[in-house]
Amino acid sequence: MIVAVDGPAAAGKGTIARRLADRFGYAYLDTGALYRAVALSLLRAGADPADPEAAARTARNLHLPDTADPGIRTPEVGLAASVVAAIPRVRATLLDLQRNFARRPPDGRPGAVLDGRDIGTVICPGADRKIFVTATPEVRARRRHLELLGRGEHSIYSSVLADLRERDARDANRVDAPLRRSRDAMVLDTSFITADEAFRRACAFVESAQ
Ligand code: C5P
Repeated sequence: MIVAVDGPAAAGKGTIARRLADRFGYAYLDTGALYRAVALSLLRAGADPADPEAAARTARNLHLPDTADPGIRTPEVGLAASVVAAIPRVRATLLDLQRNFARRPPDGRPGAVLDGRDIGTVICPGADRKIFVTATPEVRARRRHLELLGRGEHSIYSSVLADLRERDARDANRVDAPLRRSRDAMVLDTSFITADEAFRRACAFVESAQ
């Protein structure tokens, strides 16, 4: 069983995907963390995230444990991740890792949930269930802003909104694997429903495939 959860930044897809994996005993892969880890590694090395050579080399040397670094969660790394993610060779390098995870989930789990931008369209077009999680830019920016404040970080709502819009535009307009809803995906707009309600709907959709 493969569940693909896609959508723009801060729409709530990570929370939904993680909760689905918990509920059904599936393995979970946050694919955004792969691009973030590549971006962080480049920034720490003082390299330019837009440099295709350096980015592709860094992606080739990426190991899953690198994605556990809390340093990948900053807004700066999020923006750099969207630059790295627009480089076709980086995407090609990370493709097998993601497909292998979906086809052979670790620990003999009976399924996998992957969240990202292109899971239902490129990585696992044959996924059993596809969910496209979305919300208005203002709602997403507000959530991200409150999340940053909650972590004790400095945050200004208008800059968070501007960053999100910039990232959305780069993700949706890149040539390789742009952010698109797969035709067969269920759209889950979380703008005006609670996180629990969003999870309930996603759960019912996945259950109906079992
Ligand atoms: O989901 P998250 O915000 O952590 O993703 C960071 C960036 O990684 C996104 O803005 C996007 O550019 C890129 N990404 C991608 N494809 C995925 C997951 C993330 O291009 N499957």
